[in-house]
Amino acid sequence: MEISLQNQVAVVTGASSGIGSGIAKSLAAAGATVVVNHSSERSLGEAQAILKEITDAGGNGITYQCDVSKEDQVIKMFQDTVSQFGTVDILINNAGIQKDAKFTDMTLDQWNAVIGVNLTGQFLCAREAIKEFLRRGIDTSRSIACGKIIHISSVHEIIPWAGHANYAASKGAIRMLMQTLAQEYGADKIRVNSICPGAIQTPINKDAWSTPQALNSLLNLIPYNRIGQPQDIGNLAAFLASDLADYITGTSIFVDGAMTTFESFSTGG
Ligand code: NAD
Repeated sequence: MEISLQNQVAVVTGASSGIGSGIAKSLAAAGATVVVNHSSERSLGEAQAILKEITDAGGNGITYQCDVSKEDQVIKMFQDTVSQFGTVDILINNAGIQKDAKFTDMTLDQWNAVIGVNLTGQFLCAREAIKEFLRRGIDTSRSIACGKIIHISSVHEIIPWAGHANYAASKGAIRMLMQTLAQEYGADKIRVNSICPGAIQTPINKDAWSTPQALNSLLNLIPYNRIGQPQDIGNLAAFLASDLADYITGTSIFVDGAMTTFESFSTGG
């Protein structure tokens, strides 16, 4: 049994670092041509480095600058991808940010920034992807499905997170966005799922793992007793995007070392 994404084109948002870069590499290793999206001029170098790893390993792709919270830029990213590669088969809605604050101190800018990237960005990219899937229709030389969307959500889709109300609200909303799209476009054979990572070692949560003390207290939340790596998410994303997962749609899959079993209950409760 082999995971194959041959002849398929994948857009991976926020692919210049962390989980997005791990997913981009996994999809490319399975044969997909990958659009390594990055948000600004500043992240071009990182995106190019990820693309180089992909091409050095025999894969294909391009880098593409686009702020996913901006409608005109998202529309153009999909138009340019279709002009260059013919279509889009897979969207990985990964770009995400945190702007943490105690709730009563949270500014509207902090709220809007997080909702803008984490939720509106996923809406805009999913809309353009689905339009393209429907335009192309099913092409079984590519995939049994008409298209695949994977939202990168979080364990905070279900675990409340004090001090991070904007982030938790964005991830909770992604669950309903994902399930609604799976319901609305199921008959069109478009599959839509979420991956909910636990603690993955990336720049977004550096404070939680960069000192031995911080890492130790993080591990107290993870029964499996290790921090996750971007590859852990990339492995599942490649499988979920492939035809091996053809009957999986409308669901959230947690990749979290059992964090959502609530470790603090292991000694009673
Ligand atoms: P990261 O900071 O390494 O990656 C986030 C990426 O999103 C970066 O490449 C960043 O440039 C990009 N980005 C930010 N704003 C953007 C915009 N407007 N347009 C396009 N790209 C933009 O962090 P990460 O941990 O790799 O996070 C990736 C996703 O995984 C996020 O959605 C995050 O919420 C989610 N997640 C991460 C963890 C974790 O433990 N690291 C856990 C659960 C969920």
